[in-house]
Amino acid sequence: SLNVEQTLRIIYKIGDKIEENKQYLTELDAAIGDGDHGINLSKGFRAAVEKLRNTQVKDIGETMKIVGMALVSNVGGASGPLYGTAFMKSGQAMIGKTEIDINDFYKMLYEALSGIKLRGKATVGEKTMVDAIEPALNELKNAIDEGFGAISALERAKNAALSGMHFTKEIAATKGRASYLGERSIGHQDAGATSSYIILDCIYEEVK
Ligand code: ADP
Ligand code: MG
Ligand code: MG
Repeated sequence: SLNVEQTLRIIYKIGDKIEENKQYLTELDAAIGDGDHGINLSKGFRAAVEKLRNTQVKDIGETMKIVGMALVSNVGGASGPLYGTAFMKSGQAMIGKTEIDINDFYKMLYEALSGIKLRGKATVGEKTMVDAIEPALNELKNAIDEGFGAISALERAKNAALSGMHFTKEIAATKGRASYLGERSIGHQDAGATSSYIILDCIYEEVK
C-alpha cells in the first residue's frame, strides 16, 4: 500500500521525469501539433510541486486535488484541463484516505480516465492520451482479477500504456490539434499518450 509521503514522492518524481522529457514531449507535439506539450506539463507540474512543498497535506485525496488544480490553472493547452480533471477526480475519490491499496489505485485511475473522456470526448483510437490510459486501466483490472500482486499489476498496466503509446503511431488523429492533419498524422507518436505512459511508469518505478 501507499501512504501520503510516498504519494508525494511519486508526484515529485513525475515532476522530475516531465522535466527530463520536456524537450522530447515538445518535439513529438511539434511534429503534429503546436510544439508545447513538454513546456505545458513542465509549467503545470512545477506549479503543483511548489504548491505541495508549501502545504501540509492531510491525505491522498487532497494531494491529488492540489496537483489537479495546479494543472488546470497553470497550463494553457488542452492537456492542462484534461490532466487537471484526471488528478482532481482521482483525488475526489480518495478524500480522507492516508493509505491506499491497489484497488484504491484502480478506482483512482478509473476516475482519472472517466474525467478525461468526459471533458475531452475522446475514445480509444483517436490518437490521444486515452490510447495509453484506457489499456492500462483494463490491464490493471485483469491483473487484479487474476490475483496478481500490486507491483506486478502495476507493471502490466504500465506496459499496456507503453503498447498503447506505440499504437498511436499507426493511427490518424481525430481529436486534438493533430486531427487538423488527418491522415498526415499517421507515423507520428502522440505526445499526450507519451506523457501518460511516463506518468504511469513513474508510479510503477516508485512502488516496485
Ligand atoms: P495543446 O494541443 O492545446 O497545445 P498540449 O500540447 O499540452 O495541448 O497537449 C496535447 C495532447 O493532449 C495531445 O497529444 C493529446 O494526447 C491530448 N489531447 C488533445 N485533445 C484531447 C482530447 N479531446 N481528449 C483527450 N486527449 C486530448
Ligand atoms: Mg500542444
Ligand atoms: Mg498549445
